[in-house]
Amino acid sequence: MENTLLEKTKNSRLIYEEAIKIIPGGVNSPVRAFQCVKRDFPIFIKKAKGAHVFDEDNNKYIDFIGSWGPMILGHGSAVVLNAVRKTIETGVSYGLPTKIEVKFAELINQCIPSMEMIRLTSSGTESTMSAVRLARAHTQRNKILKFNGCYHGHSDSLLVSAGSGLLTSGIQDSNGITMDNLKDTLVCDFGDIKKVKELLNGNDIACVIVEPIPANMGLILTEKEFLQELREICTKTSTVLIFDEVISGFRISLGGAQEYYGVTPDLTTLGKIIGGGFPIGAFGGKSEIMMKLSPIGDVYHAGTLSGNQVSVAAGYSVINYLKESKNVYQELEKNTIYMTEEIKKLAEKHSVDVVVNSLNSLFTIFFTSEKEVKTLEDSVKSSEEKYITYFNTMLEEGIIVPPSKFEAHFISYAHTKEELDKTLCAIDKAFLKISEAR
Ligand code: PLP
Repeated sequence: MENTLLEKTKNSRLIYEEAIKIIPGGVNSPVRAFQCVKRDFPIFIKKAKGAHVFDEDNNKYIDFIGSWGPMILGHGSAVVLNAVRKTIETGVSYGLPTKIEVKFAELINQCIPSMEMIRLTSSGTESTMSAVRLARAHTQRNKILKFNGCYHGHSDSLLVSAGSGLLTSGIQDSNGITMDNLKDTLVCDFGDIKKVKELLNGNDIACVIVEPIPANMGLILTEKEFLQELREICTKTSTVLIFDEVISGFRISLGGAQEYYGVTPDLTTLGKIIGGGFPIGAFGGKSEIMMKLSPIGDVYHAGTLSGNQVSVAAGYSVINYLKESKNVYQELEKNTIYMTEEIKKLAEKHSVDVVVNSLNSLFTIFFTSEKEVKTLEDSVKSSEEKYITYFNTMLEEGIIVPPSKFEAHFISYAHTKEELDKTLCAIDKAFLKISEAR
């Protein structure tokens, strides 16, 4: 089987051999390299449509990566393509303001009212970096608090005990970060409110930044009380509470995790879905804080392509679609519940121990005999070996799932029942292999 897959993906291998000569590791973002699932090279994608991606050898895969979140409507959605086509006819970038940026900010504010004022960026990384800077300026404090295994992009102060690709590469804090950055970023375990209180009471902390639904150490389910208590302690200590909703924003519901849990942060960061597959990010929140941004305030934030009109047109079309068509989230949730329930039955059939965490259209399969996976430690303990067998069997069966046990599967509105059933047949085979390997 493995040899067949190697034969079937020979064009990807040839491209990879060229790629590694000019691009470090052959990829522009580490998790894409497939290193952590013990493959020698990744598949190189040529095109995509609906729930499928096609590689350079013309193999067709059902896609559960969805560009790591943005493709909630599936690939090549007519809604997005029409908006983009119409926009590029008029121009692609001006470096001067456009009306659609204003309309877009208003639309986001209608969905997420706590974002009273909004700034657009070109990535999630820029959004979290700028939100942290703003929190520091607002509070006149230096330190920040984040949680073990939460990922907030690749700016220096947030690459400490971070999730996602750092976990798979075995690097705890990226090299190249100054001691001051390391010293100023305090870290505690997700859910450990006692430790948070201890740190906030005794330290000079500007902000707490959290993925309200962590999805970069595998998907972790949040207790509402934890977010409520975070809110309370931040209010009490005048610490800025930042919800990093780069994944959960418009994924969990129209109003994101803050609507789902009924807990309101001071600042919110967005990315992914709000660009419809084009580069974008946003941060926003209380006017009192946002008004500190230049040119009215003295906190600098800028970007040559911030609020680029093509990204904004794509994002606007997606958010507007999600807002107007009432059933997308229900449909996504129904499909995810169907998948995860069937996965649990298959695990039982093959006596494979799993925990499946899921929320709306996100899910992660942890191969573990623990009852729950609630922290980074639980997630780290889950079997990497079994995940590798799972990933590779799925790939052989024409399904692409995240090439790391620390990421979430993304279901899109384009996934049909037939594609989900085909995926379940492949999972059946993967679980059989895992059970036979014991
Ligand atoms: N925040 C979270 C929660 C993310 O998952 C990511 C990326 O995966 C980021 C921030 C960084 O976003 P970007 O990759 O667009 O810079």
